[in-house]
Amino acid sequence: MLLISSFDPWRSGLCTCPSKLTFNPYTGCDHQCTYCYASSYIPNFKDCHPKKDALTMLKREAAKLNGETISISNSSDPYPRIEATEGLTRRCLEILAESNCRIQIITKSNLVTRDDDLLSRIPATVALTITTEDDNLARILEPNAPSPSQRIRAAQDLTKADIPVSVRIDPIIPTVNDQPQKLIATLASIGVKHVTCSTYKAKADNWMRLSKALPKVMEQLKPLYFQEGERIGGSALLPRDYRFKILKGVRDVAVAHGLQFGVCREGLAQLNTAACDGSWLMPKAKGRLC
Ligand code: SF4
Repeated sequence: MLLISSFDPWRSGLCTCPSKLTFNPYTGCDHQCTYCYASSYIPNFKDCHPKKDALTMLKREAAKLNGETISISNSSDPYPRIEATEGLTRRCLEILAESNCRIQIITKSNLVTRDDDLLSRIPATVALTITTEDDNLARILEPNAPSPSQRIRAAQDLTKADIPVSVRIDPIIPTVNDQPQKLIATLASIGVKHVTCSTYKAKADNWMRLSKALPKVMEQLKPLYFQEGERIGGSALLPRDYRFKILKGVRDVAVAHGLQFGVCREGLAQLNTAACDGSWLMPKAKGRLC
């Protein structure tokens, strides 16, 4: 079995990402987001642990890379809380810094700034997920992840270190975080260049967790998801015209602030103003460690 594989999210025809590779240093994730999708297909998801033999496998596979983009990571956060002591993602980046590849980090943790020395030597971008600027709401949605304030500071620090940053406002839950005007203004003011958005896609387990956390809201959303909405790839989505309205609203705000915009797995690629995942920000080349 290989560690690095093709990025193929749920084999979904809705994905418009440019071709790339992916791997997860960790199995499971300890941020415990209420809306997490990965918990529906990875057993014991809260039991976050380093992937067995990750470094040995990565050394072997990294030697064969030929300029590909590697997205780290998509089924777990590469900076779970245990990364602070494990340092596994950092050691992976040390290996990749000596290989022929480009790196796209996707995280909800400000710990990523610890590795800015490595990321500034590799062609790299960081996609920070910031679903809301409201620390109290984030404690409900993402109980163990660093606060939005810490993530916004991380975005600012990375852009200052000349590492391009995009922000994922993902997922957008109607009436909960579908008005991110203030967040986008803040992002624009600190040098973020791209926003990627995706509406919440209901799966049995994340719906149950959200219904416990936000009972009134989810009760109101029930008919939209399960009667009027679309069923795609095992998930219940909002009705297409409603998704379009929400996402276009966010796009218009982003564009007004001079940001590029992309949607993720929506079937609405006409809203994209640039590569949906922010990969257009990737520098062509940077100095290498050796
Ligand atoms: S950070 Fe991502 S993988 Fe981890 S719990 Fe949250 S949504 Fe799931």
